Amino acid sequence: MNKDKKKPTTNDAGIPVPSDEHSLTVGPDGPILLHDHFLMEQMANFNREMIPDRQPHAKGSGAFGHFEVTHDVSAYTKAALFQPNTKTDVLSRFSTVAGESGSPDTWRDVRGFSLKFYTPEGIYDMVGNNTPVFFVRDPMKFQDFIHSQKRRADNGMRDHDMQWDFWTLSPESAHQVTILMSDRGIPKSYRHMNGYTSHTYMWVNAKGERFWVKYHFKTDQGIDFLTQEEANRLAGEDADYHRRDLFEAIHRGEHPSWTLKVQVMPFEEAGNYRINPFDLTKVWPHGDYPLHEVGKLTLNRNPTDFHTEIDQAAFEPNNMVPGIGSSPDRMLLARLISYADAHRARLGVNYKQIPVNRPTCPVHSYSKGGAMRMQKVSDPVYKPNSKGGPKADPERYPEDAVWSTDGQFMRTAYTLRKDDDDFSQPGALVREVMNDAQRDRLVENAVGHLKGGVSKPVLERAFAYWRNIDPDVGERIKKGVQGS
Ligand code: NDP
Repeated sequence: MNKDKKKPTTNDAGIPVPSDEHSLTVGPDGPILLHDHFLMEQMANFNREMIPDRQPHAKGSGAFGHFEVTHDVSAYTKAALFQPNTKTDVLSRFSTVAGESGSPDTWRDVRGFSLKFYTPEGIYDMVGNNTPVFFVRDPMKFQDFIHSQKRRADNGMRDHDMQWDFWTLSPESAHQVTILMSDRGIPKSYRHMNGYTSHTYMWVNAKGERFWVKYHFKTDQGIDFLTQEEANRLAGEDADYHRRDLFEAIHRGEHPSWTLKVQVMPFEEAGNYRINPFDLTKVWPHGDYPLHEVGKLTLNRNPTDFHTEIDQAAFEPNNMVPGIGSSPDRMLLARLISYADAHRARLGVNYKQIPVNRPTCPVHSYSKGGAMRMQKVSDPVYKPNSKGGPKADPERYPEDAVWSTDGQFMRTAYTLRKDDDDFSQPGALVREVMNDAQRDRLVENAVGHLKGGVSKPVLERAFAYWRNIDPDVGERIKKGVQGS
C-alpha cells in the first residue's frame, strides 16, 4: 500500500504503476505475462542506460559555479564575460585522459580541465588540461597518440611499451612527458591542480585590436600531489577518490576556486618571437609574457543527476564568443572540428539541446530535424529569405576571420624558429624549476614506469630521450632501470 498518495510511482508516460515489487504472473507461482509492459519498460530502459564513453577523457567529475571578473582586461577583449564586474554561470568537468569511465582516478595521467560559460552572447567553452603543453603539435598524430595510451588490439591491455614507443619516436612529447612523470602527473585532487588553455587563442578588443592569449587558472587551494605509492594504494581502495573529494568538498560548503590569469602577446610580436607561439608543446616563458589577473572561478553546486548534467555535458573549443577567436595552432584548428563531431557521434546531432549544453540566450539558427530534437523550428527554414527570418550581423560575430596567411599547400612541420627545439623547455623545467626532491621523484616515477614491460630497443631510445632532456636525469633513469 502506497502511503504517499501524492507521489505514486508512474511509468515514463506518467501513468501510475500497480506495483514496485511484483511482475504480472499467472497465479502466484506461474509464468510472467508478456503484456506486463511496466516490467518491459523497466527492462528495456535499463538495457539502454549507458551511452558510449567519451573516447579520451572518459572518467570525469564536474560541478557548477560562476566566474567573476575582478580586473579590467577590456583593453584586450570585448568578450562580454570578461568585462569588469561581470559574473557568469559556469559548468566545469575535470577528467583523466586514458582510462575508461570506471577507471581509478589516481592513475598517472594528464587531467582534463573543461569549462562551459553560459554567456549572454552564447556558450563559451574552454577545453584545457592541468598542463600548459601537449604531447603532439600536429593533429595527424593525435589519434595514434591516444591509441598508444589506451589498449592493445590483441590482449585488450594497456602497455607501457606502446606508450614509450610512441613517445620516443615523437620527441615533441618530451615536455609533456616530463610534466606527466613529475608530481603534476597525479594531482592530490581536482581541487589541487591548475588549468591551462594550453592553446594560444586570440582576443579582440572593442577597437578591433588583436592579441594572442594563453589562460592559466591557478588553484587557490595550492598545487598538491600524490606520490606514486599513495596513488597505487588509493586506486585499489577508492577508484573514485578525486570524484568523491570534489563532490564532498562542495557538499561541505568548501567551494574550490581558481584565479584566472592570462599571458598576452601583442598580435605583431608573434611573427618574430623566438619560439613559435602557436606550438602546443611550448610555453611562453613568464619572463617574456607575465601573467595578468582576470578573475575568479568558484565551484559551489554539485550535480544532482550525474548522467544528465556531467556525462552528457559536451564541451567544444569551437564555441567561441565575440571578442575571442582561434589561432594558427594546428591542434586547436583540428579540435574546432573534432569535438563537435565526437558529440554528434556520442550524444546525437541535437546534443546542444540537452539542458546542460543549452545556451541561456535565445537561439535563432536554421538547424532543423534530427533525432531527439526538442527545440521547435518555424518557417522560414532557409536563408536568405524575405519572410522575416533571422539575419547574420557582421558586427557581432566571433573572431573567426581575423588572422591571415598565404603560401603553397603542403604537408610539412612548422617553420623552426631560433629557440624551437623539443628539449630546452623540459630541460629548464627539470634543472631550473624543480627542487632536488621533485627531481628525485621524477626519476623514480620514470624508472617505475619504464620498468613496466618496456622492450629493450624502446628502453634504449627512452634513455636517449631523457638524456636529451637532461644528461644527469637521463643517466639516473638508465641506472635506475638497469639496476646498476
Ligand atoms: P618560471 O620560473 O617563471 O615558471 C615556472 C613554472 O613552472 C611555475 O610558475 C609553475 O607554473 C611551473 N611548475 C612548477 N613545477 C612544475 C612541474 N612539476 N610541472 C610543470 N610545471 C611546473 O619559468 P618559465 O616561465 O621560464 O618556464 C620554465 C619552465 O617552467 C617551462 O619550460 C615549463 O616547463 C614550466 N612551466 C612554465 C609555464 C609558463 O607558462 N611559462 C607554465 C607551467 C610550467 P604554475 O605557476 O603555472 O603552476
